[in-house]
Amino acid sequence: MLVTGLEILKKARAEGYGVGAFNTNNMEFTQAILEAAEELRSPVILALSEGAMKYGGRALTQMAVALAKEARVPVAIHLDHGSSYESVLKALREGFTSVMIDKSHEDFETNVRETKRVVEAAHAVGVTVEAELGRLAGIEEHVAVDEKDALLTNPEEARIFMERTGADYLAVAIGTSHGAYKGKGRPFIDHPRLERIAGLVPAPLVLHGASAVPPELVERFRAAGGEIGEAAGIHPEDIRKAIALGVAKINTDTDLRLAFTALIRETLGKSPKEFDPRKYLGPAREAVKEVVKSRMELFGSVGKA
Ligand SMILES: [Zn+2]
Repeated sequence: MLVTGLEILKKARAEGYGVGAFNTNNMEFTQAILEAAEELRSPVILALSEGAMKYGGRALTQMAVALAKEARVPVAIHLDHGSSYESVLKALREGFTSVMIDKSHEDFETNVRETKRVVEAAHAVGVTVEAELGRLAGIEEHVAVDEKDALLTNPEEARIFMERTGADYLAVAIGTSHGAYKGKGRPFIDHPRLERIAGLVPAPLVLHGASAVPPELVERFRAAGGEIGEAAGIHPEDIRKAIALGVAKINTDTDLRLAFTALIRETLGKSPKEFDPRKYLGPAREAVKEVVKSRMELFGSVGKA
């Protein structure tokens, strides 16, 4: 069933588990994510970026909305990193039930103003909103305290920001960054900062850049001829700890892309004569589904639908 993001996330934060927001760009990812959710009886957030909407057009958005309506578990269709008011309106028109407005690169007052404008439009049609405060920069442990403070979410500012904007959930910058490279060694998560934010902000918190980049997946990608540098993701223990502290929405994109591409490389490498797309897209879809399932298990959302 198609529900708002807040409906899914409010329950998650109250009961202390996390819900995955998984990015889709095509039919295979959409199916993999929704099938994993149904098989594990887990709520799920299907995330489409502006790039995904451009790539997949209405074929993608309308497929996502239609399948979400039919799903036997709660599904929110979410705009990931909406960059403008116009972009949010487009998502609302397509039937999305959750939108993100990301004005985190602007100054605080501009972020408040632009976010508030989006909240008013979205709430008018019953859609809930994610906002972002702070920079999603990879931070390493040795970085100086004042440097961290300039980039990461300030707890007191977060409280004021949420009160002034009326946003429903908040993406926080606590050291994670997007992509497969999150700095050298074990990427740093500022758990004490997260705890302070959660103490002041009762809304569900959101973690971006949370892919695990599992070594076995990286190895499989490499073995099939893929090239990837020194990739490192967020440790499962750090994710569990973040959920216990108040994170309710965890975004995952990189891990799914890696799994999908590794399987396509593997299948085509083994069968050079194959040119039926179903023969390599099918196994790739299965691989995405397996990753989604393992994430749901880690987040604790299994059986919560
Ligand atoms: Zn993100």
